Amino acid sequence: MHELSLAENILEIVRESVSSNGGGRLKSVKVRIGELAGVVPDSLDLCFTALTKGTELENAKLDIERCGIVAHCRDCGIDSVVEGMTFKCPACGSGNIKVISGNELQVMEIEVDDECSNS
Ligand SMILES: [Zn+2]
Repeated sequence: MHELSLAENILEIVRESVSSNGGGRLKSVKVRIGELAGVVPDSLDLCFTALTKGTELENAKLDIERCGIVAHCRDCGIDSVVEGMTFKCPACGSGNIKVISGNELQVMEIEVDDECSNS
């Protein structure tokens, strides 16, 4: 249950951020997930919904941004997005590449509706 613990981590970050900003109602959370992170977005979304149900964070939207695998070719020196799981340099076809991104698992943005504090 990788997604469940991930959703718990996200909620922990969200709760801290919301309370340090003086409260308010959470509208949405934007997360970035790399293709190599091994996270199923639909599953993460389900876990997020289940965990927020009945809490003050209910109805908040989880916005998942996927990002591809970027690899650096040691032969031609080009950084490129690798399609699928081929792990070959698209420019020269070399397999001598190093993955430089694709493991991302980050909370990018937390949107809070602070209407309550204005009234
Ligand atoms: Zn290359």
